[in-house]
Amino acid sequence: AASITLDGIRKRYPDGTEAVRELSLEVKAGELVVLIGPSGCGKSTVLRMVNRLIEPTGGRILLGDEDITRVDPVRLRRRIGYVIQNVGLFPHQTVSANVGTVPRLLGWPKERIRRRTGELLELVGLDPAQFGRRYPHELSGGQRQRVGVARALAADPVVLLMDEPFSAVDPIVRTRLQEEFLRLQAEVRKTIVLVTHDLDEAVRLGDRIAVLSEGGRLEQYDSPGALLGAP
Ligand code: ADP
Ligand code: ADP
Repeated sequence: AASITLDGIRKRYPDGTEAVRELSLEVKAGELVVLIGPSGCGKSTVLRMVNRLIEPTGGRILLGDEDITRVDPVRLRRRIGYVIQNVGLFPHQTVSANVGTVPRLLGWPKERIRRRTGELLELVGLDPAQFGRRYPHELSGGQRQRVGVARALAADPVVLLMDEPFSAVDPIVRTRLQEEFLRLQAEVRKTIVLVTHDLDEAVRLGDRIAVLSEGGRLEQYDSPGALLGAP
């Protein structure tokens, strides 16, 4: 795991939208930080900048002590797991093939990919023999979400970015996924930035919570206990 430092980052989209005006935030190695705030306040924009899907218009982002703009984006993304709301599994690929996406891109030998895929499906609570050969449409929403997490972890990333990872499933499944995810995190201890608009989820999962407002302004940054105890 590595720390993530956002140092005065800004994002102005080409149409002039000031999605993030100036945000500084540090996430420690192995820490799970939740970004919470109203729709449109810039949360997804922040994650996409860390993953270099889009470039900041100002400021610096460090992974450990390395400036990510100095790292080739493709190589950077292989060190970062990314989980989004509707998972974005490839529909015409089996569950195993989906989980093996990044290892395949990295050119791992077939046997190693097979072993790793089985291991990951077990880790997220899916029996590889039962689910490995299914296609995404043959899974429930919660199962697809688990596959998304397994895929993101496949090449043992140093960082996990999660954008509303549990929002697309019903509340009962969501609670179970959250609990299992906490157990998983206790085992793998990744540096995680998780975006949500659900305060319960933030409190349940976050080591620290960053409360953002319009324009990606940081209103508060503290542990759940301190935030809830605050007047
Ligand atoms: P959140 O994830 O908090 O809902 P986003 O980061 O998605 O917020 O969006 C922040 C702001 O940037 C919003 O006003 C949104 O409409 C705008 N935005 C997002 N993506 C683009 C884009 N590609 N071009 C222009 N504006 C965008
Ligand atoms: P290609 O170079 O063949 O276009 P990509 O590197 O874009 O392949 O990866 C294909 C898919 O694999 C992506 O659309 C994404 O779903 C998944 N993927 C690869 N790398 C990452 C990453 N770092 N984070 C999240 N998803 C990734």
